[in-house]
Amino acid sequence: MTEPEQLFIGGRWTDPSTDQTIEVISPHTERPVATVPAAARADVDRAVAGARAAFDEGPWPRTAPEERVAAVSRLARLYKERRREMARLITAEMGSPISFSKFSQATLPMLLLDAFADIGSAFAWEQSRPGRFGGDILVRKEPVGVVGAIVPWNMPQFLLVGKLAPALIAGCPVVVKPSPETPLDALLLAELVAELDLPEGVVSILPAGAETGRHLVSHPGVDKVSFTGSTAVGREIAAVCGRSLTRVSLELGGKSAAVVLDDADPAAVAEGIKLAGLMNSGQTCVAQTRVLVPAARRKEYVDALTAMVTSLVVGDPSDPETEIGPLVTRRQQERVRGYIDEGRRAGARLLVGGAGMPEGVERGWYVRPTLFADVDNGMRIAQEEIFGPVLSVISYDDQDDAVRIANDCAYGLSGSVWTSDPGRGLDVARRVRSGSFGVNQPYSMDPAAPFGGMKASGIGRELGHEGLDGYLEAKSVSVGAG
Ligand code: NAD
Repeated sequence: MTEPEQLFIGGRWTDPSTDQTIEVISPHTERPVATVPAAARADVDRAVAGARAAFDEGPWPRTAPEERVAAVSRLARLYKERRREMARLITAEMGSPISFSKFSQATLPMLLLDAFADIGSAFAWEQSRPGRFGGDILVRKEPVGVVGAIVPWNMPQFLLVGKLAPALIAGCPVVVKPSPETPLDALLLAELVAELDLPEGVVSILPAGAETGRHLVSHPGVDKVSFTGSTAVGREIAAVCGRSLTRVSLELGGKSAAVVLDDADPAAVAEGIKLAGLMNSGQTCVAQTRVLVPAARRKEYVDALTAMVTSLVVGDPSDPETEIGPLVTRRQQERVRGYIDEGRRAGARLLVGGAGMPEGVERGWYVRPTLFADVDNGMRIAQEEIFGPVLSVISYDDQDDAVRIANDCAYGLSGSVWTSDPGRGLDVARRVRSGSFGVNQPYSMDPAAPFGGMKASGIGRELGHEGLDGYLEAKSVSVGAG
């Protein structure tokens, strides 16, 4: 990819309205990786005006769904050819270990495009149902309108494509604002979208900071805001959308629990938590960082987790052996270190890690993989989203107590249960208030299934046919005899 000097507005590469730029810094070397234009308010205005015209007068919302599905399938094919480059870019800009980037940051988005194409092909766009007053009612699904999509940096492509694909299939023009930490993958995606030759105005991709995001969210030309990010910003956006009655869906933070039942094998649990709690160096919304273990077998599980965290390979994210890379920014590094200090102050027992640099690492925004035991679920490290490689072990008395602790949290995004009896596992899965859950695995993020949060983890669902529904309005038409 060559460093773009323009922004992707309404499907065309366009000169930016200002000379503001984003300098992408490598979290591993702390040196500049690339400089790209930053979108400003006037760029959003142009993109929204183009999207508005595309929706109100253009062909896109009125094309046959098969045509829109075909465009998304074509994007999946183009994506396949560039996915290795995509993985390398994401690792370079936000420090995700390349072992994680290859599948989760680059292949998964391609699979998402395919999955949405299948969902769109099988979707019931119009359905007739018998009315209660005689005659049939025609229920049509129509595009919700111009979409403003805002995504964070932690899984930038998965989250961006998870909005772009259903919005396009629904017939909505989209203005996307990626994070300033990760503009490069977004602009590579723009290159692929450009090849689709969609009607003017249908897709804009505008990397920028929060100020430009605020402008997009409050723009009167936007009909729906689809936001993924922190709960604090989600609340702010919900308030803005509430005033204008702009449709809004929110995918927010989490503090999920992995419930270890007393019949689970300690080694298998530790291996599972490595992925469930620490993938992407702990920077995932679904991270299961509260590990609930039965008090009677606490030592066995704590020993297995200690061995796992101690053995983690930390370092250069472009090395295929690396399991934990740097965090995305210095600010995030400082924030996570602050939580480690806070855990110690609150009386949690530090078993592995701590607030210093990992051994042998001299620069970069690294944090030592950290394990706390004797954590009380009321402590801040157990209640607040840390977004780094920090695990907390919490003991429980019996299965009811485990479910109570798992639910004693403001968030409700994900979770898991580990057991040799899947029946017991399902019982726990049914009782934990979260939008997704895994039995003997972290939740699998299957694109066929709805994904989203309960409680402070969000409103609405992405993925699955529910994800497509989020970009549609239902219209009921009753037809008289004439
Ligand atoms: P963030 O909320 O700070 O920023 C997210 C995006 O919103 C960025 O693009 C940012 O520029 C933009 N933004 C910030 N303030 C804004 C405002 N007032 N108006 C409009 N846009 C604004 O979050 P982050 O630190 O970038 O991402 C990490 C957070 O995202 C974590 O809390 C994580 O749990 C959450 N997340 C949730 C999911 C999910 O599906 N539920 C997935 C990934 C990440």
